[in-house]
Amino acid sequence: MHEALRIEGRGPVAMALALFLSRQGFDPASMLCEPAAGEPPAWLASRSLALSLGSWQLLSRIVALPPAAPIVTVEVSLRGHAGRTRMQASDLRAPALGYVLRYGMLHRALAAALAPLRPSMPDAHDSAHAEPLTVVADGDPGAGSRVHDFDQTALLAEIVAERDARGTAFERFTDEGPLALLPLPEAHRHALVWCARPVQSERRAGLDAHAFEAELRTAFGGALGMLHLHGDRVLAPLQRRVRAHDGDARCIAIGNAAQALHPVAGQGLNLGLRDAFELAQQLGELRAAGRPLVEAVAHYRRRRRTDRGVAVALTDTLARAFTLPAIARFESAALGALDLFAPARDGLAATLMFGLRTR
Ligand SMILES: Cc1cc2nc3c(=O)[nH]c(=O)nc-3n(C[C@H](O)[C@H](O)[C@H](O)COP(=O)(O)OP(=O)(O)OC[C@H]3O[C@@H](n4cnc5c(N)ncnc54)[C@H](O)[C@@H]3O)c2cc1C
Repeated sequence: MHEALRIEGRGPVAMALALFLSRQGFDPASMLCEPAAGEPPAWLASRSLALSLGSWQLLSRIVALPPAAPIVTVEVSLRGHAGRTRMQASDLRAPALGYVLRYGMLHRALAAALAPLRPSMPDAHDSAHAEPLTVVADGDPGAGSRVHDFDQTALLAEIVAERDARGTAFERFTDEGPLALLPLPEAHRHALVWCARPVQSERRAGLDAHAFEAELRTAFGGALGMLHLHGDRVLAPLQRRVRAHDGDARCIAIGNAAQALHPVAGQGLNLGLRDAFELAQQLGELRAAGRPLVEAVAHYRRRRRTDRGVAVALTDTLARAFTLPAIARFESAALGALDLFAPARDGLAATLMFGLRTR
């Protein structure tokens, strides 16, 4: 019987960790897990997630890949300014820069892959195992976390566009905050993530569909023709929360339990999947060498510091910088320059595509 390991949480990062561990040869009977979650609530199931190519490749190792829309082009622009940059998968000789799917579809794919292992997995709160190494993946950085409030609320909705722009994701930096339209698997369908001051987002959520569509068209421009609202609008207040270093020698936090980021750069789950993958690799190596799993704690924290730091800094910079009118001109020039200076742009794209994985 292998040394036991407890996994707290029922979200995608907790499930991915169990599957990566299984690939490392961990016996399901040694993984103490929370009972399977049912379908996520509707507001969460419909949330769109942009996953990087690197995440997509990681997922392909553990699940039958769910329906998703490939992103082959990202158009980044500043509203009212000339600067615009375009990232293309072909420039990087990649099949896609990333993929967009719904949270519910990802949940279903992970749950199906885990189903055969579930009957052998003991309950996470089984007290027969004295003090196992605990991995916290419950999506909550905890009460003592360091919080940065961006004073922004994201308005999420699905949009049906007159023009089909399959494969293209749009990111507009408006005076109020970033507005993204991401392609969804169905033709003409896009996921809207529109960040603005809470009072603005709340007002827009309360507009009738016609008035909302008109305001969206003004903010986004005419690239997709007429834009129609499909279904409900959901509001998500935006904060960045990073878990305070707890110093607990038997506990590792991963995914949103370690860091919950602003969604502007779509990095949260990408970082969480890398957390799960790297941790499973390290635990697999320790187990193969016959060493105690708890040795992973310090090693893991050291190894993941850079990737986490880069993702937090990049996300914060994007969330903050583009909302300040005073520097908008400079940013406009910077975006234009980025388009001319391909290596810088490709470096940014590569970081967004793969993050900083150490293997
Ligand atoms: C508006 C918004 C947009 C985002 N867009 C992106 C993006 O484009 N790309 C990206 O990489 N990240 C994005 N993120 C971040 C991403 O959603 C999180 O990083 C990711 O979900 C973290 O996974 P997790 O397992 O650590 O935590 P969570 O997904 O928060 O899950 C943790 C907890 O949620 C609850 N839960 C989860 N599933 C269920 C269920 N089926 N039933 C009941 N409860 C459940 C459980 O309590 C679970 O322990 C976005 C976040 C927000 C708020």
